[in-house]
Amino acid sequence: VTEISYDSHMHVELIQSTGTDKTIVAAARVSTVGELSADSFAADAPDQTGLINFLMKNRHGTPFEHGLFTFRVRVPIFVMRELHRHRIAFSFNEESGRYKKLDPVFFVPDVDRALIQTGKPGHYVYVPGEPDDTQFVKRSIERNSIQAWNEYNLMLDRGIAKEVARMVLPVNIYSTCYVTCNPRSLMAFLSLRTKSDEAKFPSYPMREIEQMGFQFEDHFSERYPITHEAFCKNGRVSP
Ligand SMILES: Cc1cc2nc3c(=O)[nH]c(=O)nc-3n(C[C@H](O)[C@H](O)[C@H](O)COP(=O)(O)OP(=O)(O)OC[C@H]3O[C@@H](n4cnc5c(N)ncnc54)[C@H](O)[C@@H]3O)c2cc1C
Repeated sequence: VTEISYDSHMHVELIQSTGTDKTIVAAARVSTVGELSADSFAADAPDQTGLINFLMKNRHGTPFEHGLFTFRVRVPIFVMRELHRHRIAFSFNEESGRYKKLDPVFFVPDVDRALIQTGKPGHYVYVPGEPDDTQFVKRSIERNSIQAWNEYNLMLDRGIAKEVARMVLPVNIYSTCYVTCNPRSLMAFLSLRTKSDEAKFPSYPMREIEQMGFQFEDHFSERYPITHEAFCKNGRVSP
């Protein structure tokens, strides 16, 4: 099979985003000043770092819902499956294995991927393993991907429906999805799917979804710098 390719990266592209720190400030201030909250958007509006920090610390979460990010992600299905567990205020549309022939791109771990699991459930630690483990894993995954892709094509060539032929494909095949969420739900996601020394409640996510999460976080911190800083300062707890 010559058409197969392998990839070790999580791909995230920001398609659109709305809102800024000022949107959050305006949404919060409507409570106390009504229509005057519109002045929060003025270029010379006073610094509201303190207010955002107060909202974050005291978990007044709803002002953080006024904003939006749409990402296009291309990740292996085993990462997509974890992403889709975030049900609340995340919207998804994914390519279909029923309507479209899937692309022959398969994930293989790179040399930096720790391969051996130690410790207890909930606190697993991953360590590198023997020097030739990476090659062993790589060869095993590649053999399996080739075999699965061949069987998939044999069935398609025979006229079998895509939704049936795909049943042989492994979870390391890549898929593409649009994901839309607001800043509050994004922080909930980041609190669970990234590991940080600043976290009040540390999480132990899988490396690949964390790599995707850090890319989400880069867009978040760029678009909402004050909110992002308050999130980190207050233990990365979603308000
Ligand atoms: C390190 C790690 C290990 C994991 N291991 C497993 C595993 O072994 N098996 C497994 O099945 N999953 C596992 N998960 C997935 C996990 O159980 C959650 O499905 C996932 O993290 C999404 O979290 P969430 O439900 O808070 O998010 P969302 O679905 O986005 O929900 C956001 C918030 O809305 C509220 N909410 C949503 N739905 C309800 C509801 N029905 N009732 C009441 N409140 C609701 C809750 O406050 C929730 O926190 C793991 C997740 C992590 C981070």
